[in-house]
Amino acid sequence: MNSSERFASIDELDSESKYLIHKAKEATQHSYAPYSRFHVGAAVILDDNTLILGSNQENAAYPLCMCAERVALYSLGHLFPEKKIIKIAVVAHKKSSKDLTPAAPCGACRQVLVEYEHRQQAKIQIVFMTDNMVWMKYPDAEMLLPGSFGNVHLLS
Ligand SMILES: [Zn+2]
Repeated sequence: MNSSERFASIDELDSESKYLIHKAKEATQHSYAPYSRFHVGAAVILDDNTLILGSNQENAAYPLCMCAERVALYSLGHLFPEKKIIKIAVVAHKKSSKDLTPAAPCGACRQVLVEYEHRQQAKIQIVFMTDNMVWMKYPDAEMLLPGSFGNVHLLS
């Protein structure tokens, strides 16, 4: 897989992606989103099948809010620094409905995903729902953030 893939239905996705979407949806139960009412969950699978979940955590001081993806990524970065991330799925629903709604990783989370990709020297697949209920699967984080800032800029 060297390019992004589109899926008109969740049923068309591979079983691992479907599993991660299911787990990401479960993770939204721990979302703390009293302000946006936008509940986000992330599920990450590592190279030994360890599963790490995250949910968005908001704060009355809005800039302190943290995305579900980074809650999961920083958690695994601490708990399992030697393991590699294979794939991450991100889902969201509004407080008023359990139906999933489109939610793409924000720019900050894309930057963090790129960093983890460089750190582990292996690609990370990313799955999320985009507009019109279409599911997208990207083969790596670089594709979601071309020309990103990296350690080469600090070291050169
Ligand atoms: Zn984010």
